Amino acid sequence: MSHDSENRKLPLISIVVPCYNEEAVFPFLRQELVNLADSLKPRYRSEFVLIDDGSRDSTWDQMLTFASDDHRVAAISLSRNFGHQAALTCGYDLARGDAVVTLDADLQDSPEVVLDMVSEWEKGADVVFAVRTQREGESAFKIWTARVFYRLLQFISQVKAPPDAGDFRLMSSRSVDALRKLRETHRYLRGMAGWLGFRTAIVKYRRKPRSLGTTKWPLLRMVRFAMDAIVSFSMLPLRLAYMMAGIVALLFSGYLLYALIRYIFYSEGFVTGWSSLIAAIIVLGVLNLLCLGIIGEYIGRIYEQSKDRPLYLVRQIWGRPDPSSESGH
Ligand code: UDP
Ligand code: MG
Repeated sequence: MSHDSENRKLPLISIVVPCYNEEAVFPFLRQELVNLADSLKPRYRSEFVLIDDGSRDSTWDQMLTFASDDHRVAAISLSRNFGHQAALTCGYDLARGDAVVTLDADLQDSPEVVLDMVSEWEKGADVVFAVRTQREGESAFKIWTARVFYRLLQFISQVKAPPDAGDFRLMSSRSVDALRKLRETHRYLRGMAGWLGFRTAIVKYRRKPRSLGTTKWPLLRMVRFAMDAIVSFSMLPLRLAYMMAGIVALLFSGYLLYALIRYIFYSEGFVTGWSSLIAAIIVLGVLNLLCLGIIGEYIGRIYEQSKDRPLYLVRQIWGRPDPSSESGH
């Protein structure tokens, strides 16, 4: 029996890496991936599923070179930039491994941690989250906002992902099969991975600073991502309308009673009550608009979802024997 066919019996681990304008780190990433595969080698085969999320630099060319040098590489180019979560989704759709590991291109997520994840998977976990114990080289502002956000999300929703877990995780093939069935447009994958309900485990790691290149998450994008997380996993903002109505009713009912008594028993209207009137109008007006905005947030998502568009479109797949055109439906 040839060495290769013997190898085929080993379980396969897919390593999925979304890349967006990562030309600066790509050579290092490539080396790290090869090293990682080497350290898995005695017991596992590896495949690298690299997704080029519409990069405008030489990332795709470098992927192609890697794919032609190394048969374990599947290089996928999306038709444009669809965003991190969509690129990851494409990776999950195309990965064929018995376990699928997702990793950032910038090497902030140390590939060594993958070995710990694999051993948790061997012990029976279906979803292994890597939890950051420390974030080096990120601004105090980012660390603080991230911390507050994850705690808030945990508080107001039923997200089953551990706080401070990013998108660095391992998933068993059965949990990936399940994840593939969730085709929601606005995706918060770490929450969705927890929602599946399979057995989860965590491994702790220190998150390193981005080695090269720049973060692809400007503040506004982070805020939008946070909104996706909250709106996808919590109805609390919608219910806020009732709560505010209750609070306003409580605050104003005493005042209303007072005004009625004065009017009925003393025949006095509030001629002097201009400021209180204006205050009431403003407060109620603001609350009304706020509630409309919140409802709009949800309706917008219903609208997006009802269009049922694919989550991403593939322009080209390289390094796969069967490049049947796949799209994110
Ligand atoms: N990324 C992507 N599409 C995007 C933005 C980012 O595929 O539109 C990739 C990026 O190349 C990296 C990962 O997602 O591999 C995480 O991005 P980044 O490191 O910029 O995020 P941060 O670590 O700062 O949160
Ligand atoms: Mg990063």
